[in-house]
Amino acid sequence: MMYKCAHYPSLLHTITTKDHLFSGKYTIDPYQNCEFGCRYCDSAQDATIYIKINAVEQLQQELPMKKKGMIIIGSVHDPYQPIEQSYQLTRSLLKSIAEQGFSCHILTKSSLVLRDIDVLSNMKTCLVTISIPSLNESTTNIFEKRVPPPSERLKVVQQLSNSGITTGVAIIPVLPFIVENELEEAVKIAKDHNAHYILYKHLELRGDQKARYLEVIKTYFPLLLQHYEQLYNNKHMPNEEYLQNLKDTMASYCKHYSIPNKIE
Ligand code: SF4
Repeated sequence: MMYKCAHYPSLLHTITTKDHLFSGKYTIDPYQNCEFGCRYCDSAQDATIYIKINAVEQLQQELPMKKKGMIIIGSVHDPYQPIEQSYQLTRSLLKSIAEQGFSCHILTKSSLVLRDIDVLSNMKTCLVTISIPSLNESTTNIFEKRVPPPSERLKVVQQLSNSGITTGVAIIPVLPFIVENELEEAVKIAKDHNAHYILYKHLELRGDQKARYLEVIKTYFPLLLQHYEQLYNNKHMPNEEYLQNLKDTMASYCKHYSIPNKIE
């Protein structure tokens, strides 16, 4: 892994279509690319992590010109990946966001977010979503080898929630034929750890990412290869029947365990 500090001419990106999943108006990524290296993710393909060294100054210039709205932190690259321990860009950005009266929604898989509970607690509106696509450590050892294990991530959910921070669990992406039999347990366990909501989204396979992901399937789950070909059928997302089934299944589990399956 290589690390490079770089100056970026802009930081805050405006979301142009309505964001039904994360409820955001803007996005910020303090780092470009991601050390966690999840094997279904495009952010993990480049071994160079760019540190947006001017991020705080840039945000302080940009925020006063924007209408208030929810800022998604880490929409593409994890804002609490290990390098954050040294640079603390995410922490500094949160302080600026709080000072300017904006709300934020953090997406992460890292327990490092706990370090910033003091800042998060003082924000007007702040959501933290912890991504846990699988509860099964043998699955996460294949797809998310460098990420804290699911049991640790669940403890993060509990600690944040117990600290008064609105916290959710994301089952993103839902890995077809691999995690469906854990979905009910995932919803139940999220509720047991005091999560306020569950988010989920199917796996998209675009461009080169598709070949890379299918190579992992071929190595670890060779019998599933044919099912993937049928499910995706030369498209970047699963067929309609699968998507509807997933929607109905999650709606029914979330209703049963009394936890919303969206941000309310
Ligand atoms: S933690 Fe998130 S951004 Fe990083 S590699 Fe994994 S899925 Fe991609």
